[in-house]
Amino acid sequence: MEKVVIIGSGCAGLTAALYTARANLEPLVLTGIMPGGLLTTTSIVENFPGFPEGIDGYELMTRMQKQAERFGAKVKFGTVESVDLSKRPFTLVVDGDPVQTQTLIIASGAGHRHLDLESEALLEKKGVTYCATCDGALPMFRNQPLVVVGGGDSACEEATYLTRFASVVYLIHRRDTLRASKIMAERTLSNPKIKPVWDSVVTEVLDVKQDKVTGVKLKNVKTSKESTLDCAGVFVAIGHVPNTQLFKGVIDMDENGYIIPKQGSATNVPGVFVAGDCSDHVYRQAVTAAGLGCAAAIDAERYLAAMSQ
Ligand code: NAP
Repeated sequence: MEKVVIIGSGCAGLTAALYTARANLEPLVLTGIMPGGLLTTTSIVENFPGFPEGIDGYELMTRMQKQAERFGAKVKFGTVESVDLSKRPFTLVVDGDPVQTQTLIIASGAGHRHLDLESEALLEKKGVTYCATCDGALPMFRNQPLVVVGGGDSACEEATYLTRFASVVYLIHRRDTLRASKIMAERTLSNPKIKPVWDSVVTEVLDVKQDKVTGVKLKNVKTSKESTLDCAGVFVAIGHVPNTQLFKGVIDMDENGYIIPKQGSATNVPGVFVAGDCSDHVYRQAVTAAGLGCAAAIDAERYLAAMSQ
């Protein structure tokens, strides 16, 4: 029987692990399929306090894990298949095995949003990708025109990173102003290798018949004019969807699947707490996720203390 199980090993999950470990609760952290979370797919993180030169996303997460483990957190590679939160202790099935716990911290993060095009799905890993840091250096993308879709910080970061490899990077955005922070937007738009394509959406990724990406079909949303752009890769960076499907119908969430905490990090199920991107669609920063992980840990610790009185 565990005292605390944490689902997720991103900034929120590992900070919750650090705090609950230091409270001698020996938390069990279940990593999910992406240990370290989405930040491991980022190149340089420039806005996490304490790292004036910036820090590689993967390294930051490795350090967080080591720090939590130093105080007794148990980090286990595993995927939660189902949860039974109807009675305490809660039961989770992790890769076929049951795990029982007195409290649960959901820090399951968010995954990449897709364009929801059939051609996108068929060409995934054949030129369509959701991570420039992971795939940008592949030989198929070298010295080729590439497309990034999106107008937020992620799209700007991906586009800038890809200029190392691409002949040119087209940034396709559905409006004519970027959503990205000012500094990222300025850096992106002043890069001579990045060509913005405003007011446009991708309607099809070409070419399913050739089983590889050769271009995109675009539509201008203001003029309805259609065009084709040749490229060897499509990097989709249009935001995220929370990883909360497991808890549908049990834990309160909004219409987009973001978990709604009831008080602090507490959810509608006593003993279940939430932290990070699976409940935050407003700030979504590494440092806010870490802060929310800390809050969930403190709430879980206080809950356990009250239960044992
Ligand atoms: P985001 O800020 O939600 O931006 C998503 C972008 O994709 C928006 O420009 C949006 O267009 C566009 N979009 C959404 N759905 C679309 C669709 N179906 N088709 C075409 N375009 C679509 O997401 P994000 O860029 O991933 O950033 C998420 C959070 O992480 C933000 O808070 C950001 O500040 C943070 N972040 C920070 C850094 C950094 O500071 N280094 C790096 C990455 C991310 P509209 O603008 O028209 O809505």
